[in-house]
Amino acid sequence: MATYSTEIAASGRAKCRGCERSIAKGELRLGETLMNPRVDRETTFWYHALCAAYKRPDAITTFLDEGGELPEAERLREIASVGEAHPRVARLHIAHVSPSARATCRACREIIARDDWRVSVVFFEDGYLNPAGYIHAGCVEAYAETTETAMDRMRHFSPDLSESDLAGIAEAVAG
Ligand SMILES: [Zn+2]
Ligand SMILES: [Zn+2]
Repeated sequence: MATYSTEIAASGRAKCRGCERSIAKGELRLGETLMNPRVDRETTFWYHALCAAYKRPDAITTFLDEGGELPEAERLREIASVGEAHPRVARLHIAHVSPSARATCRACREIIARDDWRVSVVFFEDGYLNPAGYIHAGCVEAYAETTETAMDRMRHFSPDLSESDLAGIAEAVAG
């Protein structure tokens, strides 16, 4: 059974489990404390609130339902509700150009061609983010059963992409 809490980060050392980047000192962070079978004791995993809404919708919903307070709580709740309705949309991680033609799309099972836009997908287990392969950007709807919030997610987790990259991805997602 996980418990949730928030605090202002006292240092910039903790990594967000959603985006895998550091949580800056002074930033609000959401903690999920649970029994960690890898080390056989309780561990607290930290998230940026927005990353948690995208990647761990159940954590945000539980925290808010238990009376927890977060800035922009309504927006976070809306994002989380899409992820709860469509669990696979919460797996969408980083969009990038495929560097090779080796990966098989998890949706259509065809090879993802070199230079095609692809999206990495991840799932959570015991607080850890696990890579689960790639899908064509054009297969987002087939994989996630929705495109709602999909572009917001890829924009959030792929900060290196330019606006024209994002436009290309949006076109691929729209088919
Ligand atoms: Zn984050
Ligand atoms: Zn595909």
